[in-house]
Amino acid sequence: MKLAGWGNYPQMDCRVISAAGVPELRRHVTAEPSLIARGNGRAYGDAALNRDATLVTRRHDHIIAFDTETGLLTAESGLMLADLLEIFVPRGWFPPVTPGTRLVTLGGMVASDVHGKNHHGAGSFCNHVDSLELVLADGRVVTCSRLQNAELFAATCGGMGLTGIIASVTFRLQPIRTAWIRQQTLRCASLADAMAQIEATRHWTYSVAWIDCLSGGADAGRCLLYLGEHAEPDELDPQQRTAPLAVPKRRLLRVPFALPSWVLNGYSLRAFNEIYYGTARPGRALIDWQRYFYPLDAILDWNCIYGRNGFLQYQCVLPGAASAIGLQQLLRQVALAGLGSFLAVLKQFGDHPGGDLSFPMAGYTLAMDFPQRPQSLALLNELDAIVADHGGRLYLAKDARMTAAMLRRGYDGLSRFQASRQRSGAAQRFTSNLAERLEL
Ligand SMILES: Cc1cc2nc3c(=O)[nH]c(=O)nc-3n(C[C@H](O)[C@H](O)[C@H](O)COP(=O)(O)OP(=O)(O)OC[C@H]3O[C@@H](n4cnc5c(N)ncnc54)[C@H](O)[C@@H]3O)c2cc1C
Repeated sequence: MKLAGWGNYPQMDCRVISAAGVPELRRHVTAEPSLIARGNGRAYGDAALNRDATLVTRRHDHIIAFDTETGLLTAESGLMLADLLEIFVPRGWFPPVTPGTRLVTLGGMVASDVHGKNHHGAGSFCNHVDSLELVLADGRVVTCSRLQNAELFAATCGGMGLTGIIASVTFRLQPIRTAWIRQQTLRCASLADAMAQIEATRHWTYSVAWIDCLSGGADAGRCLLYLGEHAEPDELDPQQRTAPLAVPKRRLLRVPFALPSWVLNGYSLRAFNEIYYGTARPGRALIDWQRYFYPLDAILDWNCIYGRNGFLQYQCVLPGAASAIGLQQLLRQVALAGLGSFLAVLKQFGDHPGGDLSFPMAGYTLAMDFPQRPQSLALLNELDAIVADHGGRLYLAKDARMTAAMLRRGYDGLSRFQASRQRSGAAQRFTSNLAERLEL
């Protein structure tokens, strides 16, 4: 069937197979000469695409064990984060790290070593993973952790499914006392102001900035900074306090079909950014966890607004010292191209080493969306040069077009990763369009 990632680019005809339970996973692995795992297809590009065999894990989704004292959870890799939240938030538990959508599987969270709004303090998801069960190329199932098969563990965390099929994940949930978030919104006048305010508010657990990347000149990098903390019961109003772990059900909207590509043009983006930045209210608010962590999940299929050709997300990270100048250059280049992004997100990463190909490094990450067209591809090549010159790298889970040379310049752990893939036999069996494009 025709398959794509969330960006709808590239689209490929893939043979899709599916499995539930370890015996079925093993059977597929040994039967297929070439395959890749696929969770819920939320990686933007071609990470979960293999023409010969794309193995969907969604039915492999049982919870295996949970310790109510420590929060230690073991679950099968196809469990959706959305289902986990539905079960555990009302019981007072929350994931240690969550990406900006809950429509992902645990296997996908490990394979991309996802980060959230708390990376500066908590690190990425795999920093909280105790161990994994991995199906290797020869069908053997091994446990990997920092102490057991440590080399495979480091290659699998952020390894984009290229070391084997993750069968289960053991990690620790964090206790929460309410389902509400105390949000503080700050307005920042420029990129320099944003970076100063992000630095000054590092003690907040959650922090993320939305940038208006169409504004130029003195306004370049103006943004809204959203800070958040899990609220305590005494911060809730009396009505909310009667059931502090419950929140109202949200109405979901759906983009009914792929919109014509002219709907998103420079004028509509500029107007959107103007309205968003001009009308947002700085100050305090108490909002439920769904609105704070997953605002985009309220609009189902929002990727369709970019039309049939799809879109590209460009997410880079620049290391600490080079961040300010590099980010300025990136934003200048985007403003010059007039291709501005509907969503542009700025976040500080902390110093929390991850797996061989984990994306985060101490510094700042910027994520922007562009419609998939020749002008965007040309702009992204220019942005690549700026990122590479400043010692940065791009996020594999968002990528659909970088070159192998760009990957090599950004990822120090690449040769370790490749050696580990050779040693375990994974290089001969697990591959994806992304892996072939990037010569992984
Ligand atoms: C709206 C939106 C917001 C996002 N926000 C963030 C964010 O804030 N931070 C962030 O880090 N990411 C973010 N992402 C990216 C997303 O979290 C990752 O791409 C994640 O990997 C998707 O999980 P999935 O289950 O859909 O995996 P897929 O997209 O299906 O697969 C992604 C990768 O995981 C591998 N994989 C999946 N399951 C397994 C398995 N069982 N064994 C081995 N490999 C496996 C695949 O082979 C592939 O390489 C966002 C994506 C969207 C659409």
